Amino acid sequence: MRKKKSSESALHEVEGVKSPSSVSDNSIKQMKLKRSEQPSETVFVEKILAGDISHLSRAITLIESTNPKHKEKANAIIEHCLPFANKSVRIGITGVPGVGKSTFIEAFGKYFTQKGNKIAVFIDPSSSINKGSILGDKTRMKELVKDPNAYIRPSPSGESLGGVAQKTRETIILCEAAGFDTIIIETVGVGQSEIAVHSMVDFFLLLKLAGAGDELQGIKRGIIEMADAIVINKADRNNVKNANLAKAEFSRALHLYPPKESSWQPKVTTCNAFYNEGIDAVYEIIQEYLSLTKSNGYFEKRRNEQNKYWLLETINQQLKNNFYNKPAVKEALKKYLEDIQKLKTTPFKAAEELLKLAQK
Ligand code: GDP
Repeated sequence: MRKKKSSESALHEVEGVKSPSSVSDNSIKQMKLKRSEQPSETVFVEKILAGDISHLSRAITLIESTNPKHKEKANAIIEHCLPFANKSVRIGITGVPGVGKSTFIEAFGKYFTQKGNKIAVFIDPSSSINKGSILGDKTRMKELVKDPNAYIRPSPSGESLGGVAQKTRETIILCEAAGFDTIIIETVGVGQSEIAVHSMVDFFLLLKLAGAGDELQGIKRGIIEMADAIVINKADRNNVKNANLAKAEFSRALHLYPPKESSWQPKVTTCNAFYNEGIDAVYEIIQEYLSLTKSNGYFEKRRNEQNKYWLLETINQQLKNNFYNKPAVKEALKKYLEDIQKLKTTPFKAAEELLKLAQK
């Protein structure tokens, strides 16, 4: 498993761009899959249910593959694992690079495993690229990677956010079936990925740093709205005062938002991930959230809504792909775009024609 991870991060590094193409990544994985003999679906399922990490990893690689045969096998495995999934707590963690996500997840993850939990962590592949280190994934979370009750893996990468999200959700199912009761999904707080992560987790945690009193500046409003907890990290000696000021400011800001459907009032706390301080408070906040939302029915309702959302989202995505990948549409689209510019036709007429063309 370790071997695979380092090769994945090395691949990301070689590509050296912000959103790495999954093509070379996947083709190498597929070569590996071909080389090694594939166990049957039944063996995969049995091993995964028994908590076998090596089979879990191989099944996840099948999910990430673009080879239709692998995809088919992955789907069969997922289907058999599904009745054993759904029993975990899924936590999303976001924050800008450098805020301390890996340090926090390391301390937080250890806290969970010490309590007897089994934790699966999906790290944002772009985090290791940002670090500019070929050993990015290995040097992040040094302790947690050695913990037998923790499983760390980069989130699937891919060209479209929809595709990545689908693979991540399928991966969650397999991890839950393998007995992981706590799932953590890290996302770098840029772009749209946090919205996708938010729609697949039960609890969303925003990590922040204390600044000089202008805490709310530069934060996308949407992220604060999504947060169930804001954790001000690096509340060290010299920074404790600023961290407490930030805490007060965020708490005030959170109270200005309308009450959440969950009836949960988002909490703000400070922590010092590097020295392992304040992690227990975050843990308690999550327990409090779970106890509230499980008793008022919101937890289950939200999971159902997420399932419905992803069903529709997957269909939308597939329809779009089918449409835009049709050679006739590709060609005609170019022409219509020019025609619109030259005012030869309207966007609405052009869209109608293109949709008709796609049905032929
Ligand atoms: P990430 O990019 O969000 O994953 O951030 P890292 O976890 O890699 O942390 C970035 C830097 O901040 C590293 O040098 C960490 O050692 C440091 N760091 C993380 N948490 C704390 C903290 O609580 N206190 C202090 N002083 N430094 C921290």
